[in-house]
Amino acid sequence: MSDAATSQGTTLATRLADLEARIVRACQRAGRRRDEITLVAVSKTQPAELIRQAHALGLRHFGENYVQELAAKAAELSDLTPLHWHFIGHLQRNKAQQVVGRCELIHSIDTVPLLQRIDRLAQSVGTVQSVLLQLKLAADPAKSGASEAALADLLAQATDLAHVRCLGLMTMPPLFDDPRTATSVFAHLRQLRDDHQRRRPGSSLQLLSMGMSGDFESAIAQGATHIRVGSVLFGERS
Ligand SMILES: *Cc1c(COP(=O)(O)O)cnc(C)c1O
Repeated sequence: MSDAATSQGTTLATRLADLEARIVRACQRAGRRRDEITLVAVSKTQPAELIRQAHALGLRHFGENYVQELAAKAAELSDLTPLHWHFIGHLQRNKAQQVVGRCELIHSIDTVPLLQRIDRLAQSVGTVQSVLLQLKLAADPAKSGASEAALADLLAQATDLAHVRCLGLMTMPPLFDDPRTATSVFAHLRQLRDDHQRRRPGSSLQLLSMGMSGDFESAIAQGATHIRVGSVLFGERS
């Protein structure tokens, strides 16, 4: 390994240790166990070599936003096992093929046609694809995600499809907003999941993907099962 790569690895190890300590403290404050939370390391725009270093440090879950980038990195890192890919970006129907069967979890399903497309693709490769439904719970022109009003229909459709398994909900609060907005958005997502579980006991809708570098502690307090952390771990993206 070059000197530059070695010092990058040291920085990553330090950042990961700091992040872990913050996650553990947030769990303690919330009365939750650390193993209730999956850390998804968001590696978009970061080189495959950095993912390799993160994997050597024990990270197993990586989140990518762009289909081409995911495909290239998955190919380059195919020797790393176990490694679980998460697709967290906006997904276009005509690109879904690159993601289905390759990702443990697609976090960003927000329309019925996309759900149906995933189902057909998963069937054609003989798998059942796990997904989350992405909701937009605060006005934010930049964010994709289904409205709360569309959730019932998405859930009903998902139940009818044999090759998608809908395991939970995902959201992103508006960027640059008051931290209290994030907290209320996270609490809202949890409420929607809890309401659904109450109406349908035994429902598979369990997971809550919420919280990023700026707000993962608040998300843990509100019940996140998956936090998606990029810049705190890998540094600012260029
Ligand atoms: C980029 C991104 C993240 C990570 O953001 P950081 O602020 O760098 O932690 C999390 N989730 C989604 C959907 C993203 O696009």
